[in-house]
Amino acid sequence: MMQRTGGIRFALCSVAVVVLLLRCTNTPTPVDPCWSIALHGGAGTVDRDAPQSVRDEFNASLARALRKGANALGSGSSALDACEIVVVDLEDDPHFNAGRGAAFNAVGTHELDAAIMDGSTLRCGAVAGVTSVKNPIKLARAVMERTKHVLLAGRGADDFAATTGLELVPNSFFGTPHRRKMLEDSLRESAAPVPAKPDNAPATRDTAAAKRGTVGCVARDSLGRLAVATSTGGLTGKKLGRVGDSPIIGAGSYANAICAVSCTGSGEEFIRHSVARSIAARMEFGHESLAQATRHLVFDSLRPDDGGVIAIDAAGTIEMVYSTPGMYRGAADCNGRFEVSIFDERTTVPAPSGALIAIGGGLSDENTVVYRELCASSSAARIVIVTAASGSQEEAATEVREAISRHCPSASIEVVTRETSTDETVARFNNATALFFTGGDQKRIVARYRPAGVESAESRAMRALLLRGGVIAGTSAGDAMMGSLMFHGGSSEAALGVIGQPPTDDGDDETARVVVGPRFGLGMALEPWVLTDSHFFERNRIGRLIAALHKAQLDGGSPLGLGIGENAAVKFELAMSRATAIGGGASLLVDAREVRRDGGSLRGARVRVILDGDQIDFVLGAALVTPSAGPVEVVDAATNDAPPRVARSRAMLDFLRRAAASEGAVTLQLGGWRLEGRAAGAGWATIDIVVPSAREKTR
Ligand code: ASP
Repeated sequence: MMQRTGGIRFALCSVAVVVLLLRCTNTPTPVDPCWSIALHGGAGTVDRDAPQSVRDEFNASLARALRKGANALGSGSSALDACEIVVVDLEDDPHFNAGRGAAFNAVGTHELDAAIMDGSTLRCGAVAGVTSVKNPIKLARAVMERTKHVLLAGRGADDFAATTGLELVPNSFFGTPHRRKMLEDSLRESAAPVPAKPDNAPATRDTAAAKRGTVGCVARDSLGRLAVATSTGGLTGKKLGRVGDSPIIGAGSYANAICAVSCTGSGEEFIRHSVARSIAARMEFGHESLAQATRHLVFDSLRPDDGGVIAIDAAGTIEMVYSTPGMYRGAADCNGRFEVSIFDERTTVPAPSGALIAIGGGLSDENTVVYRELCASSSAARIVIVTAASGSQEEAATEVREAISRHCPSASIEVVTRETSTDETVARFNNATALFFTGGDQKRIVARYRPAGVESAESRAMRALLLRGGVIAGTSAGDAMMGSLMFHGGSSEAALGVIGQPPTDDGDDETARVVVGPRFGLGMALEPWVLTDSHFFERNRIGRLIAALHKAQLDGGSPLGLGIGENAAVKFELAMSRATAIGGGASLLVDAREVRRDGGSLRGARVRVILDGDQIDFVLGAALVTPSAGPVEVVDAATNDAPPRVARSRAMLDFLRRAAASEGAVTLQLGGWRLEGRAAGAGWATIDIVVPSAREKTR
C-alpha cells in the first residue's frame, strides 16, 4: 500500500515537474514578421486650397522619407534604425520644421529638440535647445547610447555634440526665408521687435508650410520591436530657452512593448496631458485599443486644434489622429500599404504584389537586366512566352526564347499562342512565375484575352499571377496592352489634328492619315496609373501622348503618361504604386494635369526624362520622381534600329535636356509643328506643342 501511494506520489510529482519544465522552457509565441511604419511631418499644414503643385511637393517629401523607412524595415533593419533614418531624411528636408527648415525663436535663432526611444528596452535619449548639430535626432541617439542620461539640454547638449563626431553647422544653416517670414509675421502680430537677420542666412526656395510643425516616425520591425523618433524646431517665435513636448519622454514621444507614439502640436498641452505615455497607459491598464486610446487623448483630453499623433501597436496597427485641419503623414507596411496624405484624403494601394515590365521596343543586348528581372521573380523561374500579338508567332517565340535562355539559363520556358486552348493557356499561366508578351499588334492580345473589356479565364489567370507576386512583361505591343486604355494607331500629327500633313512617323501607323485624334482601345487593365506608349522617342510620339492624356483627362482618365523609348523599360511594382526605369534607353514621364488647349496647340505639359534607376511614386494622382543616385548614360535605340530613328531620338532627348536646364525657352521643329520647352525645376520641363493655325500655314 505504502509502495503504491509512493508510486502515485512519484507519478504525480513527475507530471508536475514536466508541467513546470514546460512552463519554464517558455516556448516563444511566433512573432508576426510583418513590419509597419508611420511618419508625420507636423500638424501644421499648408492651406487646404494650396495649389496642387505645393501639395505634390509635400507628398513627394513624405513619400521619399516613407520609402526609406519601408526599405530599411523590408531589408531587416530594426524599428529604431528605421525611425532614425526617416527622421534624418525629414530633418534634412527644408519643407518641415525640424533640422534644416526649423522655426525661428523670438530672438531670431534656432533651438532644436529631439527624442528617440526603443520600446523593446525602454532605452531612450533626448536633446533640447540644441543649436549646432545638423541632425538633432542623431544627437538624441548618441545621448541614449553613449551617456547614462536620458535628456541633455542647451549648452551641455551642444558641448556633447562637439565630442560625438556628428556633423556641426552654423545656427543660420537651419533657417529658410519662409520660416523667417513666419517669424516676422508672428512677431508683428504680437507687436514685438523683429530681430536682425544674420548675414549668412541661406537662400532657399520659399515653400508654403505651417506655423508649427515637427517630424516623427513610429515603427514596428519584423521582430515585433517598436520604436519612436521625433524632432522639431518648436513653435515659431517661442521664448529663448523654451522646450516643447517632443524631447520629453512620455509627452511628445514614447515607446514600450505595447505601442509607440509621436506627437505634434501645441507642445505645452501635450506636456500637461503626458499624451504619448497616457496612450500607452490607457492600453495597458484600461485595455483600450490603439484607436480608442489615441482618439481619447486627441479629442477628449486635448482641445480642438491642439495637434495630432501617429501611433503603432505591437500588432503593427497604425493610427494617425489629429484635430487640426490636416497633418502631413504617411504609412506603409509589408503587405504593400504605402500611402501619404495631408488632409482627409486616403490613398489605399491595391493588393497585388507582382510587377509589370513595360518594354518600349527592341532590346539591345546590354539590356540583359530586363530578362534577369524575369528570372529574379523566383529561383525556379517558369516563363511563358505569349505570342498572341505577333504576325509570325513562331518567329517571335524563337527570338524571345533565345534571349531569355541566354540570360536565365535555368528558367523553364513554355509558349502560348493565339491558338492555344483556353484550358491549356490558363493551366500554363497558373503554373508560371512570369509571362512575356511579344510585340506585334496589341489589338490581337486584347481580342483574344479580354474582348470588349470583358474579363476571361485567361485575364483572370493573369491577375492571379500578379496577386501571387508574379511578373508580366511585354515588349512594344505587349507593353501597350497593359493599361486600361491603349493606343492603336494614330501618329502625333493625327493626334494633333494636323490633317494634310504627311505623318512624320515612318512606322506602322498606316491609318494615321485619316484619323483625327489618337485612337484608343480598351487594354488589359493590368496597370492602373498611367497611359504608356512605346517606341516613343524614335517615332516622335510626344504629340500623340500629350494629346491623348489631355483627352483622357477630360474624360476623367489618368493625366499621367509614360512614353517608353526603345531599349528602355519601366518596371511597375503594383503593391508600392511605384515604377522604376530599367535598361539603357530613355523614357518620358508626362504629367498633363495642367495642359490646356490654345487653338490647335496644347500648352503646359510637365515632362521629365526618366533614365535607368529613376524611381516614380504614384501618389494621390501625381507622379513623384526620385532620381537614381548613380551616373547614368543613355544607350541609344536598339541595335536593330535604322539610323534615322536613332538620330531622331537623340534630337528629342537633347531638346528635353536643354529645356529642363535652360533659363529661357528652347524649341524643336518637328514636321508641321514644334515643341517649346522651358525648365520647371527639379529635372522637369514644361512643354508646349505649338501647331500653326491653318491661316499661319498658308502664309
Ligand atoms: N510640438 C512641437 C512643440 O511644441 C511643435 C509642433 O509639433 O507643432 O515644440
